[in-house]
Amino acid sequence: MTDNSTKSEYTVLLAGNPNVGKSTVFNALTGMKQHTGNWAGKTVSTAEGSYKFNSANFRLLDLPGTYSLNASSPDEMAALNAIETVKYDCIAVVTDATCIERNLNLVLQILQITNRAVVCVNLADEAEKQNIDIDYDELSVQLGVPVVRTAARKKQGLKNLAEQISNVASGKTKTYSVTRKYDSKTEEAIQIVSDALSDTDVSDKRRTAIHILERKQDITNNSNIGNAVKKAKELAGEDIDDIIAKTRVGQCEEIYKLCVKRRNGEYRNRDRKIDKILTSRIFGIPVMLLLFAVIFYITIAGANYPSEWLSSLFSFIGEKLTMLADYINTPPWLKNLVIDGIYTTLSNVVSVMLPPMAIFFPLFTILEDLGYLPRVAFNLDSVFCRAGTNGKQGLTMLMGFGCNACGVTGCRIIDGENERRIAVLTNNFSPCNGRFPTLIAIISMFFVGVFPIAVQSAVSAFILVGIILVSILVSLLISFILSKTILKSGGKSFLMELPPYRVPQIGKTIVRSLLDRTVFVLGRAVLVAVPAGAIIWILANIHIGSETIISYVTSFLDPFARIMGLDGAILTGFILGFPANEIVLPTTLMIYLSNGTMTDYGSLAQLHDILISNGWTIKTAVCMLIFTLMHFPCSTTCITVKKETGSIKWAILSFILPTVCGIICCIAANLLLDIFI
Ligand code: GDP
Repeated sequence: MTDNSTKSEYTVLLAGNPNVGKSTVFNALTGMKQHTGNWAGKTVSTAEGSYKFNSANFRLLDLPGTYSLNASSPDEMAALNAIETVKYDCIAVVTDATCIERNLNLVLQILQITNRAVVCVNLADEAEKQNIDIDYDELSVQLGVPVVRTAARKKQGLKNLAEQISNVASGKTKTYSVTRKYDSKTEEAIQIVSDALSDTDVSDKRRTAIHILERKQDITNNSNIGNAVKKAKELAGEDIDDIIAKTRVGQCEEIYKLCVKRRNGEYRNRDRKIDKILTSRIFGIPVMLLLFAVIFYITIAGANYPSEWLSSLFSFIGEKLTMLADYINTPPWLKNLVIDGIYTTLSNVVSVMLPPMAIFFPLFTILEDLGYLPRVAFNLDSVFCRAGTNGKQGLTMLMGFGCNACGVTGCRIIDGENERRIAVLTNNFSPCNGRFPTLIAIISMFFVGVFPIAVQSAVSAFILVGIILVSILVSLLISFILSKTILKSGGKSFLMELPPYRVPQIGKTIVRSLLDRTVFVLGRAVLVAVPAGAIIWILANIHIGSETIISYVTSFLDPFARIMGLDGAILTGFILGFPANEIVLPTTLMIYLSNGTMTDYGSLAQLHDILISNGWTIKTAVCMLIFTLMHFPCSTTCITVKKETGSIKWAILSFILPTVCGIICCIAANLLLDIFI
């Protein structure tokens, strides 16, 4: 081990399975506020922070949460890559004390690469509550590295963690590698590869050889090692990686038996009992749909009034602004541009979007914190496999309901290039938060009128769940077609640990999701609405001949839009809404009220009247729902697809695919409804 004792800055990697409290440890050490969430793939890129301890500076890199280091998905690759390329002084592996047996595999895999490690056993408070006794000293002996008990949420044990990290990083604590014995053939194979290695000391050589033999990736670029691997595999068999992995699993079990005692299985039983229902074949999916229906119901019923209040507040402020503008003699064009264009677009976007978002996001985050989302992915797994893709797509699809750009980024958790591309290309079929308000408004105006007022919100919620089901089915169908054609893939079930259920911290969750998500999404919408409002106003007010530019565009698009059951104004709304879906409906309205001003539509009843007087029928509403569900992704998502796939080709395809589907479905719906209505 090199002498590190005089260094003043150390680099520490933070590794661990998803959902073990890694972000919490990271934040507690660095004082940063990384978003914490509960499902796999959340920390999709490496976050960096730093802290001081004993007058030395520690640079902390948070690696993506992974179950192993087999480099078979981008997040595993990113974690392994960081371990292999970053010159670190210590790796802190965070584990979950309540299910340490599941985490030991990653710990041992990391200890296969390095013994400059500290194992942090987090969630110790939770484990103690569940009567799980962990012998930390014995664990440390078994692993050969320091083991620290922490309860990061309560800020317990962090000082000790920092100290142990410091000791290992500086070389003060001597760690050792625990060498396990394999069968003689495997041992010989390891020796062959080990002999071919250079530059490292003997214990590292053995470990590195084991690591190389387990890696599925081709390492033939270094011919010496490549040849040794080949020879080793000839001797011990191609499945030597399996032998190594299995031996490790055996070792995990041994260590677990030695170091952990469960005094009663009450908690596990509780989780198991809940899972029996929530992930059962019969009830799993219905319960899931019911739960989402309840969330939508609360969102729809709860958002109505605040939307109206906000809207009246904005129109009150608007009146005052107009008075102020008149008072200071603002030129009329400027006054109209700022107040009728920018301000009104902005206030419509905020009053339509903010209330549902402020309700939906916290509810969704509570589900996330409870540990329910992985169960949803579990329930959907077999369905996705049948569609020829990876079960993890279910998770990225869920993320898409929040924001498609986030969903697309989340696809990094998916193994297999083609499976990942399928998930990226189909993510946009999940209606994102920018589209929910439009869907909700249309459903409430056109489809629930025949029901008594008291149950209208509930009916809306059920219709919305139906629409989401349709979106999932379309997603599956398109995935299936892609997996059989341009993105051939087999569809393999994914092994996913179902994390224990946890009581969410409701207050914190609400604050966090309001700050992290609501403000973020709203901020983006506002940023887009300001220039969009200005552009729309200009287009609606500059005349060429007797008509405004926007009416030229609208009349140009009208014949085609009619075939789709829409009209030119709606289609123009969609096109101008490319920067953000939330402005589609407000823009369409502004075109209808072609005096160039976007009027506030304080209540849905007013909005309904405007739409009806512009020729909307049930058919228009149905086609609008369809096209809202299936059309090109917003500009941010397109850019994200380009970034994630590294190719403009896939970005273009992600644009065309849902648009073509949407156009076809709208035309079909238009024709069918003509026949039946
Ligand atoms: P990550 O996915 O590994 O980054 O995990 P997070 O940091 O997002 O934590 C997952 C959940 O566990 C969150 O709800 C945390 O508040 C909670 N958590 C983290 N550390 C602890 C702990 O030490 N004790 C308890 N009871 N909960 C914790």
